Amino acid sequence: MNELLVNAVELLRRPGTERSETFETTISSLGIVDARLPDGPVSFRARLEVLSDGIVVSGEVRARWVGECRRCLSPVGGEVAVPVHELYQVRVSDPEAFPIEHDQLDLGPMLREALLLDTPSSPLCRADCAGICALCGADRNAAPCACDTSVRDDRWAALDALRDDSR
Ligand SMILES: [Zn+2]
Ligand SMILES: [Zn+2]
Repeated sequence: MNELLVNAVELLRRPGTERSETFETTISSLGIVDARLPDGPVSFRARLEVLSDGIVVSGEVRARWVGECRRCLSPVGGEVAVPVHELYQVRVSDPEAFPIEHDQLDLGPMLREALLLDTPSSPLCRADCAGICALCGADRNAAPCACDTSVRDDRWAALDALRDDSR
């Protein structure tokens, strides 16, 4: 029994209606194998809006994530809350739409995609984390060292800009 399957037949009989429902699953049930997303509960507060030719699923998916600060390597983590808004269609005419197969909506692939895309991949423990000194190894959040790392800092800024773009 897959708790993420929704019977579409009933819904599609009533275009213009909507219904709210909360779905509960786990990281492992979604088939996610990713160091950022340890196995644990996933909840999805959904709204299902019935159109004449499909169903719009929107809401927010939440799960716990972990990682390490990309500058000082201290553990970071929290809850990721990803807004989703997707269309499911019986006859897929929208290239972005998910298919309704065997009269069912399968929310699994959508939730998996949303979590993998929106979980931070190069987090910071805080926006102004000073990081670890590349020369002496000191944690510069704890105490500034006397090393001249201005060249290195410039490279960091360039790298950060790249990473921010790619997120
Ligand atoms: Zn840090
Ligand atoms: Zn230093």
